[in-house]
Amino acid sequence: MTALLEVSGVSVAIGALPLLDGISLSVRRGQILGLVGESGSGKSLTAMAAMGLLPLIGGRVTAGAVRFDGQDLAGMTEGQRRALRGRRIGFVTQNPMTALDPVQRVGDQVDVVSRLHLGLSKSAARARTIDLMAQLRIPEAGAVAEAWPHQLSGGMKQRIVIAMALAGDPDLIIADEPTTALDVTVQAQIIQILGSLVRDRGVALLLITHDMGVVAQICDRVAVLYAGRLAEEGPVGPIFAAPAHPYTAALIGCIPQDGMAKGSLHGIPGAVPSARAFPPGCRFHPRCARATPECTRDVPPLLPRGVGSAACFHMTPEAG
Ligand code: SF4
Repeated sequence: MTALLEVSGVSVAIGALPLLDGISLSVRRGQILGLVGESGSGKSLTAMAAMGLLPLIGGRVTAGAVRFDGQDLAGMTEGQRRALRGRRIGFVTQNPMTALDPVQRVGDQVDVVSRLHLGLSKSAARARTIDLMAQLRIPEAGAVAEAWPHQLSGGMKQRIVIAMALAGDPDLIIADEPTTALDVTVQAQIIQILGSLVRDRGVALLLITHDMGVVAQICDRVAVLYAGRLAEEGPVGPIFAAPAHPYTAALIGCIPQDGMAKGSLHGIPGAVPSARAFPPGCRFHPRCARATPECTRDVPPLLPRGVGSAACFHMTPEAG
């Protein structure tokens, strides 16, 4: 099956500052791709490039191409890109409060999406809203549709944002840290709901997260970003069994395990460098226990490794 979203060798700059360097990833219908990395790794910027939203922040694609369903975003007018975003690409933000209008009832905010993009009548849009809310396991959906955002819990608000993203019947959903603002139990519910929606509706999901635990739970593939470059990409099973890249291994090491002794949770020493001070060679070398002089000098190319690919001079051998 061909990719619905294809990001090929995309580099991005804001003004004169290069931020992303040759990012390639793709996601098909019915598939969940986890885009993972610490803050500052370039995840949200990659999502903005995928949605054609870079001009909003003064950014531009300096190399490569983003294709949606075979069409190059660069060849579209802004009007065509806007139509694509509302109708075929749904977006779920990190913070539901920024996505919801505080002075509009939540049902009306969902209705407007299907009225605008699917041309539904007022009553048909409301029926669709209630149906979507029920699928998102919102109890008493009819009554909740009449509520104001401030009357709902964080988890309920995030379900409304997901309903808004689904209301235009999109082919692709881009969800940027959709559970960050929620408590752990609600996080698990939202992740489970997103996973079943993808399988049931055959949509593609690009899930941006800093949490490898979430990736392990629902993603089919994972793309690991570090300091604006792709460190590793491939199917979740083999990567979790034997990550090729030390950064991927470090992120997996950060997943809390059941029965872990207090204080035994691993962190990754140091921090992602600022784009104004990316180190030469492999950008991970100041934090990497495996670094050699070659790593401080040369940029490791992204090479195939098993069924995925990784950019490291000293990859871990494949499992088995
Ligand atoms: Fe570490 Fe070198 Fe691999 Fe970079 S290229 S991740 S510094 S071993």
